[in-house]
Amino acid sequence: MAQEDVFKKIVSHCKEYGFVFPSSEIYDGLGAVYDYGQMGVELKNNIKKYWWHSMTLLHENVVGIDSAIFMHPTIWKASGHVDAFNDPLIDNKDSKKRYRADVLIEEHLAKLDEKIEKEVEKAAKRFGNSFDEKMFRETNPRILEITRNRDEIHARFTKALNETNLEELRQIIIDAEIVCPISGTRNWTEVRQFNLMFSTEMGSTSEGSMKVYLRPETAQGIFVNFLNVQKTGRMKIPFGIAQIGKAFRNEIVARQFIFRMREFEQMEMQFFITPGEEMKWFNYWKQLRMQWHQALGFGAEKYRFHDHEKLAHYANAATDIEFEMPFGFKEVEGIHSRTDFDLSQHEKYSGKKMQYFDPELNKSYTPYVIETSIGVDRMFLSVISAAYCEEPLEDGETRVVLKIPAVLAPVKLAVLPLVKKDGLSEKAREIMNQLKFSFACQYDEKDSIGRRYRRQDAIGTPFCVTVDHQTLEDGTVTIRERDSMQQKRVHIDEVENEISQKTDMKTLLKQLSH
Ligand code: ATP
Repeated sequence: MAQEDVFKKIVSHCKEYGFVFPSSEIYDGLGAVYDYGQMGVELKNNIKKYWWHSMTLLHENVVGIDSAIFMHPTIWKASGHVDAFNDPLIDNKDSKKRYRADVLIEEHLAKLDEKIEKEVEKAAKRFGNSFDEKMFRETNPRILEITRNRDEIHARFTKALNETNLEELRQIIIDAEIVCPISGTRNWTEVRQFNLMFSTEMGSTSEGSMKVYLRPETAQGIFVNFLNVQKTGRMKIPFGIAQIGKAFRNEIVARQFIFRMREFEQMEMQFFITPGEEMKWFNYWKQLRMQWHQALGFGAEKYRFHDHEKLAHYANAATDIEFEMPFGFKEVEGIHSRTDFDLSQHEKYSGKKMQYFDPELNKSYTPYVIETSIGVDRMFLSVISAAYCEEPLEDGETRVVLKIPAVLAPVKLAVLPLVKKDGLSEKAREIMNQLKFSFACQYDEKDSIGRRYRRQDAIGTPFCVTVDHQTLEDGTVTIRERDSMQQKRVHIDEVENEISQKTDMKTLLKQLSH
């Protein structure tokens, strides 16, 4: 199946089974805003819990906060967002569609890369065992031509981004003959800067109202509370502050479901360190964050690091963790070395000292910061994408199953009486009433057992406990495992232990060795 079709199926599956709904649907929706349904909210909460616990339980020196969405507007002046949180936008005059100029070029570069790989694949098939890939890449005239073209565009692109040269960005689009995917034409407008922050008014007009912003990132709430936490928590450098919360960006192009939203959620951690130690801690968090992703078991090949072409105004090193979504490798998390930019700026704009007295060095300094920043919604999309699976069954039917890691699954087990009569429903209810204190459970007695299994597969429930006539005789039930569909018989008293071993967050956290 083409990846595009897979993505469409995932989007409709998310809606059909109560994971994600378009916002304000009865009013035809609101662009790039989504609501999480009864299943989605559970999965999202489990993702947040996995992140929060990995930060605050596994690191004695990382604590959490929850700062307000509204903040003093000068914060955004100090952080650079008022002046520089812009995206270069370009319109196609025929389709009237709006694009990010940088994204159009990036996608074009990715296509050239793909072309090269296809040529190599084709040749590998043609030459069989005698194929010398290295030599082919270095000498094949077609590959050399595409590579030269790619490298030239790439070099111009990086330069234009670094110099914020909008005319050159447009020229690259023209020279590379990039067309609008909708109209197929090259009839482009100029490239303009567009600020991504939402603003609103605070206070009534009679008092004089103030323009405030909906935060475009949660990080600034951490920076401005840095000394509050450090002093009240008696924190010693190095230490981190973690936060989960909503962020808002008026994204220009918002077409990829929950990948790019206008209201979304971030999980950010700012790690305060001694200046000069940034590369050590940058690498430390880089490895740790990758380990956190890979512990979910989707396979290491689904992830890669992507170092930034253009460093943000505050960063001296930056990398993304990308995940292979159905529409290619895309950023899920950013890891940035932010230097002392933010704290110094806040010191300058607020007139308050933002320094730390280091008792070991016996001096005060402005700490440097390593940031890890991951979007909850993108993480959610990566889990659903990797988990979505259509499997042929022996009876010729196909099942749709979400192979969500058991720890993250919205429902951990379903309790199913084989039939509604003979006292099986009552027995199943009794079991459910015992287990509901430990796990998110569902009770289902409607339709055939096969259909009920399919329903649980579709929401990713890792275990189904089936109560049958034998249960009444010897107190045993069957536990059916979602992925293998294998069943085993165990005594009712063993169910809790059996399932908690596989669904407990502890099991996952213990894999993160630090
Ligand atoms: P992009 O280049 O895709 O716009 P970014 O580099 O601007 O993303 P950051 O500012 O580094 O993103 O934000 C950190 C994380 O927040 C991202 O890795 C992503 O997971 C998440 N994020 C950012 N913008 C959005 C959005 N519009 N919708 C959903 N998640 C987002």
